[in-house]
Amino acid sequence: MPDRRMPVGDVGWDDRGMGGLRSDPKLVTVLGRAFRCLVCDHGLFWSRQVKLSTTSASSFDLVWGNRSATGLICARCGYVHEFAGRERPALWSAKVGYPEGTES
Ligand SMILES: [Zn+2]
Repeated sequence: MPDRRMPVGDVGWDDRGMGGLRSDPKLVTVLGRAFRCLVCDHGLFWSRQVKLSTTSASSFDLVWGNRSATGLICARCGYVHEFAGRERPALWSAKVGYPEGTES
C-alpha cells in the first residue's frame, strides 16, 4: 500500500515537527518587529510553507531563491498572511514571549 498521507502544516523549521495546526500558535516577528494580524490585530499564528504557483521563467528563483512562501494563519480570524521574500518571519513560543529588543 502506498502511503497516501499528505504533508500538512509546518515543515519543521519552526515547529520541530509538532504537527501543524494541532500545535500551539506562535508569536511572530518580521524584521525584528512584532507582527500582528492585519484583520483583527491578533498576535498568535500558525505557520505553514506555501508553494507558489509561479509557472514562468527562472528569474523568480534567481531573485527569491526558491518558490515557497511562509504562510502565517491568524489563530483568531484565520486570515493567511504570506511572505515570499528572503527575510522570513521568526516564530516565538507564546509561553516565552517576544525576544528582547522586539519593536511593538
Ligand atoms: Zn486575525
